Amino acid sequence: MQSPKSETNASRRIMTGIILAIVIGIPLGGLAPDFSKQIYVLGELFLRALKMIVVPLVMTSMIVGITGLGDIRKLGSIGWRTMVFYMATTGMAVLVGLILVNIIRPGVGVTPGENHTDAAYTVAGRTVTLASGEWNRAGSSQYSGDYVLRLDDQDVYGEIADITPRGATVRYWETDDIGDEPRVATVDGPAFLWRDGRLVSAEPAVRSSGVGLRIDVAIAGRIEGKEGRTFGSTLKDVVIGMVPSNIFASMANMEVLPLIVFSLLLGAVLSVLGDSAKVAVDVFTALNEAIMRLVHWLMVVAPFGILGLVAGRIGNAGGFAGFLPELVAVGKYSLTVVLGLGIHALVTLPALLYFLGRRSPVKYATGMAKALMNAFSTASSSATLPLTMEGVEKQNGVSNRTASFVLPLGATINMDGTALYESVAAMFIAQVYAPVLGIEITMAQQVVIFLTATLAAIGAAGIPEAGLVTMVIVLKAVDLPIEGITLILAVDWLLDRFRTTVNVWGDSVGAGIIETLEGRAEPTQDAAA
Ligand code: ASP
Repeated sequence: MQSPKSETNASRRIMTGIILAIVIGIPLGGLAPDFSKQIYVLGELFLRALKMIVVPLVMTSMIVGITGLGDIRKLGSIGWRTMVFYMATTGMAVLVGLILVNIIRPGVGVTPGENHTDAAYTVAGRTVTLASGEWNRAGSSQYSGDYVLRLDDQDVYGEIADITPRGATVRYWETDDIGDEPRVATVDGPAFLWRDGRLVSAEPAVRSSGVGLRIDVAIAGRIEGKEGRTFGSTLKDVVIGMVPSNIFASMANMEVLPLIVFSLLLGAVLSVLGDSAKVAVDVFTALNEAIMRLVHWLMVVAPFGILGLVAGRIGNAGGFAGFLPELVAVGKYSLTVVLGLGIHALVTLPALLYFLGRRSPVKYATGMAKALMNAFSTASSSATLPLTMEGVEKQNGVSNRTASFVLPLGATINMDGTALYESVAAMFIAQVYAPVLGIEITMAQQVVIFLTATLAAIGAAGIPEAGLVTMVIVLKAVDLPIEGITLILAVDWLLDRFRTTVNVWGDSVGAGIIETLEGRAEPTQDAAA
């Protein structure tokens, strides 16, 4: 058994190690991207170990937490308080985001591509040349990859493979106008049509000259296939997904929400059974303690894992030289998101913790530091859950019965940072496209963004960049082009880290406040009994 003093010393050493890992990892990844990509393996190992712990931790701690309630009816009060708190704080976060995005207006002046309705051009194979003039953003490498060139008068388009100041080469030509003929898609080339028993290329023939062309944003690969997502389908997925049809499948896929429901039910039954279930409760209690100890052990290697994660991710983005230009291109947007996250994390949540939770925000945040830095490094609320529980229970003294219910639920449905980001991103895209599409963003649409951003955050899993995909719901609800997501893709991995940190901070603050409210409510309940 460790003495409390040596435990504090060890904890301090780990903390210093993690801070060093981040401080060294950022310049390392930025300046030596190739080397940093190699050490990402350290981060991967650490991440896998964290994920390994999540499922047994959620299940055992929840079962123990519920059985520890004494009276199962108390769950009702924790339950509604938690839900109200989570919904209210997510709403506040979205509101901050919407206010800022309306003041800063980061999307104004940003163009999604460029339109040359009267420009003459010539075509040689897959290369198009402007008869005169240059692209507005001539020489910009921003157009390769996620952009398409459209020949408006011919109704054909192609993904830009290479761009010069006066022309562009597409990977191959495509058209939406191919009728009902069955198409065979190829992985990385033009599609084929089945005609007279033979496969013929579906690549349209293109005339050698014409007038009117434009550069458009393409639908990013990660979003493709998700276009069908709507408000209703997402809500349905969340509700249906709560009940597992096979708990082993849910465990294997790390689906926390259905596991919460199962553990909650099992815990409730064990409490009702009383003495005859004591053996089972004891087993779960011992397992829960063992898993918390595993978390402690894992923390010893956390600095190495975090170094690998931070340096490796920046290295993967091409180092500073690779991603700083991308960041500058959408600098105002990124700043709006980070500013909003900052206000929510440093003003709103601490104020709630202080007034409702009666706790010192600084002290509470210090106790959560390891979890918060881990959230920043992994960009995953779920993978951070073991550390969030450790921080809330061991460092901040919140009881297991509160933490075990509030935190796993929070890691899956309470995402203040993600909700704020979704609202800012949707408004950014709206501002970019407003002049192109001739639309105006009305107050009613902002209300829709408010509601859908909240839902999109609930629907987003606690894994890296999940919020980017659920953005589709928000954009579709207000009829904005989902291609707009491509504009913010390049910096998303970085913003994801900031929003995940706020997500985890929001859950932790929730646990502190619910604990205090429950504690205060108890004497009254007893008195009433
Ligand atoms: N990465 C976030 C989380 O795990 C979710 C998101 O916003 O993409 O909390």
